[in-house]
Amino acid sequence: MKERYALHVQGIVQGVGFRPFVFNLAESLGLSGWVLNSAAGVFIEIQGEAAACAGFCRALQNQPPPLARIDQVTCQKKPLAEEEGFRILESAPGVRQTLVSADMAVCRDCLADLEDPQSRMYRYPFVNCTNCGPRFTIIGDIPYDRANTTMADFPMCPDCAGDFADPRNRRFHAQPIACPACGPRLSFVPAETGEAMPGDPLALATDWLRQGKIVAVKGLGGYHLACDPLNQEAVCRLRRRKNRYDKPLALMAAGLAAAEKICLLNQEEKELLLSRRRPIVLALRRPQGLPVAEAVAPGNRRLGVFLPYTPLHHLLLQSFDALVMTSGNLSDEPIACRDEDAFQRLSAIADGFLTHNRRIQRRCDDSVAVWAAGSARLLRRSRGYAPEPLPVAEQGDLLALGGQQSNTFCLLREGQGFLSQHIGDLDDEATYADYRRQIRDFCRLFEVKPRLLVYDKHPQYATARYAAESGLPLLAVQHHHAHMASVLAEYALQGPALALIFDGTGYGDDGALWGGEVLLGDRARYSRLAHLAYAPLPGGEMAIRQPWRMALSYLSAAVPAEELGSAAALCHWPRQWPLLLQAMKSGVNAPLSSGMGRLFDAAAALAGFSGDIRYQGQAAIYLEQLAWQDHSQGAYTLTRTAEGQIDWRPLFREMLRDKRQGVPPPVLAGRFHRGVADLAVKLAAFFAKETGVRQLVLSGGCWQNLWLLEQVWPRLQESGLAVYANAAVPVNDGGLALGQAAIGAAHLAQGKK
Ligand code: ZN
Ligand code: ZN
Ligand code: FE
Repeated sequence: MKERYALHVQGIVQGVGFRPFVFNLAESLGLSGWVLNSAAGVFIEIQGEAAACAGFCRALQNQPPPLARIDQVTCQKKPLAEEEGFRILESAPGVRQTLVSADMAVCRDCLADLEDPQSRMYRYPFVNCTNCGPRFTIIGDIPYDRANTTMADFPMCPDCAGDFADPRNRRFHAQPIACPACGPRLSFVPAETGEAMPGDPLALATDWLRQGKIVAVKGLGGYHLACDPLNQEAVCRLRRRKNRYDKPLALMAAGLAAAEKICLLNQEEKELLLSRRRPIVLALRRPQGLPVAEAVAPGNRRLGVFLPYTPLHHLLLQSFDALVMTSGNLSDEPIACRDEDAFQRLSAIADGFLTHNRRIQRRCDDSVAVWAAGSARLLRRSRGYAPEPLPVAEQGDLLALGGQQSNTFCLLREGQGFLSQHIGDLDDEATYADYRRQIRDFCRLFEVKPRLLVYDKHPQYATARYAAESGLPLLAVQHHHAHMASVLAEYALQGPALALIFDGTGYGDDGALWGGEVLLGDRARYSRLAHLAYAPLPGGEMAIRQPWRMALSYLSAAVPAEELGSAAALCHWPRQWPLLLQAMKSGVNAPLSSGMGRLFDAAAALAGFSGDIRYQGQAAIYLEQLAWQDHSQGAYTLTRTAEGQIDWRPLFREMLRDKRQGVPPPVLAGRFHRGVADLAVKLAAFFAKETGVRQLVLSGGCWQNLWLLEQVWPRLQESGLAVYANAAVPVNDGGLALGQAAIGAAHLAQGKK
């Protein structure tokens, strides 16, 4: 019995080899019919034996091509038609691609080609197919055709054109298809001469790296700076030249076996490393593993490792167990992606450049993930993930501008949140300029004309400037409400939820800097149930850079004035501390903060962190590393007052007393951490009882603290609450834009009612 069906498939089904997959599937089952790309997704008609039709539908849903994501399939029975064979129909003119795929790691088949001396792709650093390779970083415009990518510079040779046109070939309609005869080429350029060196570029780069030199390597979304991680002197030189003193550097390991020589990996971490998205994974160092230089990640029990994701990486890593591969920029600048720019900016850091002549359309940093509390959690969502949309319950075309640090923005269209790649810190002018460019780019690529602009209330954020200049209807959103909403959006939670927002700083409704907050609310509204008692930031922004200032602030409120002198001596505060205290007391440059991040900073200073913070969260990370070394007991006291203030004075009194008695720093850190963990559990239990709300969300940058998250998580779950924390988007300000978008959408939906 013959039957005919019409199917409509929605999701990521374009530019991912979906039509050839359908073609080959239909042919293998002896079905006739056709497949067609349209703006609304892929349309298919099939005709053949009933069992074959059923098999087709099963395979379509269960074994789609690796890069496809099927969101919905509808199927309708149709009358039989006269036809022969299965055809791929021309896309209707004016068809615009609905979704752009992220960049994906080179696939197994292409790796096999790379190693096969018989293949014309043998050792070709740009081999790719419909199942793998660059996408987002080469697309200039839609639809996704070669002419609209940076591959437009490379006309196909007859062999490539043949593969491209053959539906039975893995490279059918693979827009970036290329081979040594027609595609991009490598070159090796010493920084000193700026001229390509004769010889095999890959061999030259390998040689230089072996000699302890620093080589800039052009990747998918920008340049990396590479050096030998076993060479302490080389790693230190890289840090010095890059102005990056303490922040951990990522390691690219040759493969899983090499990664295991560096880190202890559980099954989930291995899968994360091997996933096509290839994030950097923060994993525990292996004791007595490969002798990686201490300077790679000073004092940190975790190392950031990732695996090669381009064919070029694979070829380069054939000669090493691992290479340091860190973003090609000076601290805080955007990663370099244009060649002239890279040479200009990186020639003071790199000794040589392993580069090529395929342009990078847009910069895209590596993503960073960690496996914690039962989930893979992205700490930076960028290459391999962006611009794949995240579902957001409500509709409405809007743009959410994100935060000031670790910025991403989010474009909302038809219930899909297109979260941008990691943009960075908007304090930096070059980053801000790039931010504006990327927003324009997204609006064009995803064809959205925002009707509403959602932005953070902080008047000094660059996003406020952007909003003021936009001329669009505006919605200002409180920072921590947005953190909370990012979790609501991620898990599609409805109804009210409680939120424990442990964050650095965010602008509060009362003009103070919030960040240690218990909120109750949903996407549309929230109320503040409790918060850390305010403390002044002595010297404003300076107090965020110099943790001892926060110790002074808290202690001056916690202990009698006559005890401060001995505390100052014990903690080695700079001599000007009494002046600072005076200024703070008279309210000069001393904004109020309820930030949990500041509490960690102050505790870190008491536990021995001295000097300035050189990257965000550094003091808190220092304290967390100490806490992991502690196996004692005891917790400092944080209490909640009837007015919803969280009193930290007992905590600082106890900590100072311990310090006076010579309690070692890891124990100080452990007791502090246990105090904060106990507080979180107590707050959750108290407010769940008081409000009857059983949904609890955790968000804010302090939850990047794995000690805290992993201690608190099981205890909260045991208390019978449904607990949610960010995983698909960062818990830090990198996830803020998704929450803003969700709030904006709720706002638009309300306006319609
Ligand atoms: Zn491939
Ligand atoms: Zn070719
Ligand atoms: Fe924040």
